[in-house]
Amino acid sequence: MKRLPEHVDFIVVGAGVAGLRAAIALAAAGKVLILAKQELTESATQYAQGGIAVALSDEDEIGLHLQDTINAGDGIVNQDAGRVLVEEGPERIQELIDWGTQFDRQGTRLTFAREAAHSRNRILHAHGDSTGREIGRALYAKAVTLKNVTFSEYEFTAALHVESGRVGGVELISANGTLHLVTSSAVLLATGGAGHVYSNTTNPAVATGDGVAMAYHAGAEISDMEFVQFHPTALYLKNAPRFLLSEALRGEGAVLRNAELTRFMPKYHEMAELAPRDVVARAIAHELEVSRTKDPVVYLDMTHLKAEQIKTRFPRIYATCLKHNVDLTVDQVPVRPAAHYLMGGVRTDLEGRSSLPGLYAAGEAACTGVHGANRLASNSLLEGLVFGARAGHAMGAELTSKSSNSARLAVRPAGGDSGTDTDQFIHEVQQLMWMQAGIVRSRHGLTDALHKLQAAAEHLPLPYSRHNCEARNIHTAALLIVRSALARLESRGAHYRTDYPEHDDIRFKKHSIATEKGVRFV
Ligand SMILES: Cc1cc2nc3c(=O)[nH]c(=O)nc-3n(C[C@H](O)[C@H](O)[C@H](O)COP(=O)(O)OP(=O)(O)OC[C@H]3O[C@@H](n4cnc5c(N)ncnc54)[C@H](O)[C@@H]3O)c2cc1C
Repeated sequence: MKRLPEHVDFIVVGAGVAGLRAAIALAAAGKVLILAKQELTESATQYAQGGIAVALSDEDEIGLHLQDTINAGDGIVNQDAGRVLVEEGPERIQELIDWGTQFDRQGTRLTFAREAAHSRNRILHAHGDSTGREIGRALYAKAVTLKNVTFSEYEFTAALHVESGRVGGVELISANGTLHLVTSSAVLLATGGAGHVYSNTTNPAVATGDGVAMAYHAGAEISDMEFVQFHPTALYLKNAPRFLLSEALRGEGAVLRNAELTRFMPKYHEMAELAPRDVVARAIAHELEVSRTKDPVVYLDMTHLKAEQIKTRFPRIYATCLKHNVDLTVDQVPVRPAAHYLMGGVRTDLEGRSSLPGLYAAGEAACTGVHGANRLASNSLLEGLVFGARAGHAMGAELTSKSSNSARLAVRPAGGDSGTDTDQFIHEVQQLMWMQAGIVRSRHGLTDALHKLQAAAEHLPLPYSRHNCEARNIHTAALLIVRSALARLESRGAHYRTDYPEHDDIRFKKHSIATEKGVRFV
């Protein structure tokens, strides 16, 4: 069995777009260990379908991409971060192409698709709807050529190692349950999102909010956790996963119909099906609530589009739906919203530095404020590339020669089982969050969720194992979402409260920061 090193220069937790891109930048500065808790290919990056936004087409401008990002973020996009994203995006994409990424083309020209809330066609895609997989493939292929980069899969990072106020390593639980400590000059969290805080999610099973929870327990500031994006259209079939039906389908002309098969989006927004995601998700929630049939779904209809167009443009989506006996070209497809993307995360500056020395974060686990209160579709793969690269460069410049001879594993709750069934514990948190802290929120529901989560803290599953750590992380992320959502007494972006349905710019045109002391706005 491959032995883990006791010390490396840099640890990158996560092998999605952000972790891989950061590691490529870091390799010039020292030895990098990339950790993944499952196989390297299990990440949200692998499932990203629609594409990656970049202002590269002849009809587009960087300023327009910035403006669309700011508009989607509903007043609180960190404009410096937004500018970095759109200005550095083209260079990062060119680099990807140079490293072998095969984006779709017509002849020799890149093809750009349109998605919701984009004012131009600017979404690059690969193999139709396998953009993330192609980007991940190319980044991995580049990273393995770098002799300073080592990969270790199935290594679960359970906690950050903090010594004298500086993060200097990670505690790992291997697949066989053994604990290890690996020390390093600095650690980058690129652990992705937290979709599994909710009972309906498009996210892969690895998205349990581990990075955010570990950073929080180590004392780092966590920002904007109330902003969870719910994707309007996840396939909803009994016994099937909540497979994402990309926005790009609506970009190509698919429409939404309610239980009576009436198209409803035009009455909610002038952009109809291409309105911002939170608008579409809330419209669906409303249609479900008022439906006389009480069906749990609405329908995505693309039967009016050319069958060949659907099959060529969305081969993976078409094939996956067919596996579940749904033919996109002839059937009304049952869909409903699902938790999709976490705008909040570990608070960082534009170089990925968190508030804790030695700790960096990038990608979905991080919060630079670039998405504000709502992410513009297809901006997250780009975020992983741009801010992953930046974090890698900044971390590399900070290499310390500190040796780690004195480092010891912390004593953790081990031994006898707590008696709590882990899967049941997770299920209860997920249901609670879906009901009380989901698409539509109120003080009453959020307070109920807070009390129940606080009570559940007495029954966190033991012993200290991989799955029990995930349960604890889901619980921590859920508490952070609820506390932040309770503190934000307004509606903005993806955060909607029936008791405060309007913006309150005077008090809340700001970012929330959650620490153990409470939630404040800056
Ligand atoms: C179905 C779906 C479709 C999407 N479509 C698009 C799209 O078209 N365009 C777009 O821009 N965005 C899209 N997104 C969002 C985008 O894919 C993600 O935001 C982005 O890929 C996140 O990248 P990341 O590197 O931050 O994390 P991820 O790609 O999620 O990688 C996380 C990594 O962290 C590791 N990890 C997590 N916890 C631990 C731990 N405790 N110990 C060790 N390793 C750990 C995992 O093993 C994994 O390697 C989509 C998301 C989903 C789920």
